[in-house]
Amino acid sequence: MAEAGYLDKLNDNQRAAVEFGVVRDAVAPPLLVIAGAGSGKTNTLAHRVAHLLVNGADPQRILLMTFSRRAATELTRRVARITEQAMGRGVAAEALTWAGTFHGIGARILREHALAIGLHPEFSIHDREDSADLMNLCRNALGFSQVKARFPAKGTCLAIYSRAVNSGDPLDEVLRDHFPWCSPWQAELKQLFGAYVSAKQAQNVLDYDDLLLAWAQVMSDEGFAAHIGGAWDHLLIDEYQDTNRLQARILMALKPDGRGLTVVGDDAQSIYAFRAATVRNILDFPTGFQPPADVITLDRNYRSTQPILEAANAVIGQARERYTKDLWTERASTEKPRLVTVATEGDQARYFVDRILEDRETGTKLKEQAVLFRTSSHSVQLEAELTRRNVPYVKFGGLKFLDSAHVKDLLAFLRLVRNPRDRVAGFRVLQLIPGIGPKAAGQVLDALDLAPDPLAALEDVAAPPRAGADWPGFVEAMRSKADWPAALGHARAWYEPHLERMHEDAEARRADLMQLEQIATGYPNAEAFLTELTLDPPDATSDKSGVPLKDEDYLILSTIHSAKGQEWKSVYLLNAVDGCIPSDLGTGSTHELEEERRLLYVAMTRAKDHLTLGVPLRFYVTSQTRNGDRHVYAMRTRFIEKAMLDRFETLHWAPPVGQGAPRPAPGQIDVAAKMRQMWG
Ligand code: ATP
Ligand code: MG
Repeated sequence: MAEAGYLDKLNDNQRAAVEFGVVRDAVAPPLLVIAGAGSGKTNTLAHRVAHLLVNGADPQRILLMTFSRRAATELTRRVARITEQAMGRGVAAEALTWAGTFHGIGARILREHALAIGLHPEFSIHDREDSADLMNLCRNALGFSQVKARFPAKGTCLAIYSRAVNSGDPLDEVLRDHFPWCSPWQAELKQLFGAYVSAKQAQNVLDYDDLLLAWAQVMSDEGFAAHIGGAWDHLLIDEYQDTNRLQARILMALKPDGRGLTVVGDDAQSIYAFRAATVRNILDFPTGFQPPADVITLDRNYRSTQPILEAANAVIGQARERYTKDLWTERASTEKPRLVTVATEGDQARYFVDRILEDRETGTKLKEQAVLFRTSSHSVQLEAELTRRNVPYVKFGGLKFLDSAHVKDLLAFLRLVRNPRDRVAGFRVLQLIPGIGPKAAGQVLDALDLAPDPLAALEDVAAPPRAGADWPGFVEAMRSKADWPAALGHARAWYEPHLERMHEDAEARRADLMQLEQIATGYPNAEAFLTELTLDPPDATSDKSGVPLKDEDYLILSTIHSAKGQEWKSVYLLNAVDGCIPSDLGTGSTHELEEERRLLYVAMTRAKDHLTLGVPLRFYVTSQTRNGDRHVYAMRTRFIEKAMLDRFETLHWAPPVGQGAPRPAPGQIDVAAKMRQMWG
């Protein structure tokens, strides 16, 4: 019999959530756990999985889904540790074979059942950039980009398409509510999206959204849905507030009576509405079943000190709508969160790095500290400062290893070998060959398109006239029958001369490709490798050579979105100013503004012991849309109202004299700033 000690640390409500309906050889009714940040939701979910396992559940019949692969891995590791404690011999993390993201699990289901549902089993998956490129090819083919001045950019077209797919809303509503300046193009956009869908099908390509859309669509067949859903007894989902309607539809189709479903989340942390996530999913979950699902709430925060929690509660307390209640904590402290005003983003970077290094001196590892920001581009000055002072870091949610051109080139080659109809990959790879431009590449791809077996047909396709001596080498490389992962080595051998021709820093880039081969050895085949890398690529690091070694100490840099669910002893937030949080794009509607407030709440609640918010008075806005890049004079974020200031320690900081531009004394006129201001 299992020892119950592993549940002793849980409080009453957590324990109730863990034990709810868990009986040997039975499946529990549906359960919702909804509670604020740091109340132990994820921890409770991990204990519930462990408790199921202790009570005889088959690890392979448990489906665990959360918002990133990193979070999923962390969850399975926790489960393994708890079962170890409970049973002496643990259930290995790897035994939980169905743990991942909705998109990753979707890709697996679709690939496994491809033939039965009319998909090519070797379909390629396009990341957002590939999808935008394909959208662009379609735009050009329809003549919209050339003829129609000011037709929405490819990225905007993709964003509109994606929003319509994920929300299920009709195009006119999506345009009216979220892209009103694109409404005049409704008819053309509709035509474009039709062409985009046809192109994907002709090329055996699925984009991110298709992984959910196709999954949801096949689930509308009840027999098929029952077959798929029958593979699991227990389905547990974390961060449910950030799922969209397609995801909810999939879940309901998997278990129409809700038996075996446990969903966990916090409506106050819903921050993905811009990707069509809807907080309705979590709020409506209980009434989706007959009888309604049980709801358990948690009210004690175990993460943050009292002053940090009070400040965060004050911010979220002003939200218009909120289901979860304020939390309490027993972690007393006299240290309030710091709100630091500085003149520039450069000063902000210097102040943060000074404090981070000071804390390292006194024993707080870099790994226990994190700097968060709204958008990846906001960390530029900080990264420069870290590099200047030799502080290693890993950046989450920013530019990925995969975003570099050379890595994309090589992966496109691999994709093309598997699926020669993938035109985005085709255009990319063919144009690496000297003498082949878009036109010649298009002709080759057209010829391949007509052939029943494109790879075989490659031998017979006439070499583009200007491709010269490089053509036979390409054909041979494409037709190489090398096994995995040797195939990647062959691809690299073909690619390297091109790399050297195109890039001055070929040496550094070659190191990346070697590292890619290293990563590849961990995957059973090219498909698994490509799928995983496309869906959840490794993060960028300060030395650009991949993920640091395990025992290395490094600072975490992360967008707030990617910091979801995590915690650090010390947290710094860049740019707690209006124009950033809320972003100048996010102030259009009350809904958008409310989401920005929740974003600040998520950022603040990542901190355990120390929280520092930076308020640079001059702040550089990079705006992709309406207003262009510019400096603005910033103000403290409107979400920290005057009446809340007593919850913070407010201070001004300036670098010691001689280290930075001179600045006027407080209350005096800043002549330099005024002169610059004249010209915008
Ligand atoms: P978020 O909303 O940010 O995802 P969460 O509700 O999922 O937070 P967890 O990450 O599970 O919260 O837990 C927050 C912290 O509190 C973790 O460090 C966890 O180990 C700790 N914790 C949770 N429950 C308890 C408990 N009963 N006793 C001691 N520590 C706990
Ligand atoms: Mg959590």
